[in-house]
Amino acid sequence: MDLKIVLLGPPGSGKGTQTERLVAEFGFTKISTGDLLREAVRNGTELGVKAKGFMDAGKLVPDDLVVGLIREKLKGLKGGVLLDGFPRSLEQAQALDQFFKVEMAVDLEVDQEALIKRLTERRSCRACNAVFHLEFNPPKKSGVCDKCGGELYQRSDDTEKVVRERFNTYTERTAPLTEYYRKKGVLRSVDGMGAIDDVYKRISAVIKAA
Ligand code: AMP
Repeated sequence: MDLKIVLLGPPGSGKGTQTERLVAEFGFTKISTGDLLREAVRNGTELGVKAKGFMDAGKLVPDDLVVGLIREKLKGLKGGVLLDGFPRSLEQAQALDQFFKVEMAVDLEVDQEALIKRLTERRSCRACNAVFHLEFNPPKKSGVCDKCGGELYQRSDDTEKVVRERFNTYTERTAPLTEYYRKKGVLRSVDGMGAIDDVYKRISAVIKAA
């Protein structure tokens, strides 16, 4: 499927989980700034060193770093693309418009308190970035990734204090993007509450209808 999509929604709205499935069904190339930044932090690159403090505080990493990263990744890419976690501010969206045409913005609409529970009980795979939830999507074996056998861990920004800060950041910086894409006529709002499978069906129906 040759569609250029951005996936919007607050932290914990299920963007990462849904992205994995969409990639499997539609063959999109996924680009997740959060995954890329965590990899940079793990590898201790210059970008990682600069980004870590912002991430641990639940703040946005400065636009110039993230926009540069995305521009590199998109260079020469063919076929359908799914951006997860980018753009996160109006400035990023405007920068993106200079080198990438967003054809659809899928906005996952969710309830804030439910999200806090989702995030603080989320566990991620160190090796392949797959995400699990202790209650809603538990791994078959505690602490071990079903997909690759890697070790599951809690992201340092998934603690309640940082989660609350990430929400503030989202409300201030990212929520205005919904309006931005609505005005461009590419916004598709999807109810993001309920079972992972049900949310997935809603998203894939919207994509198939494009
Ligand atoms: P995520 O995995 O998408 O929840 O991102 C985790 C953290 O990485 C965020 O809280 C930010 O600190 C940083 N980050 C990810 N994407 C972006 C972005 N597009 N702009 C700025 N910071 C970002």
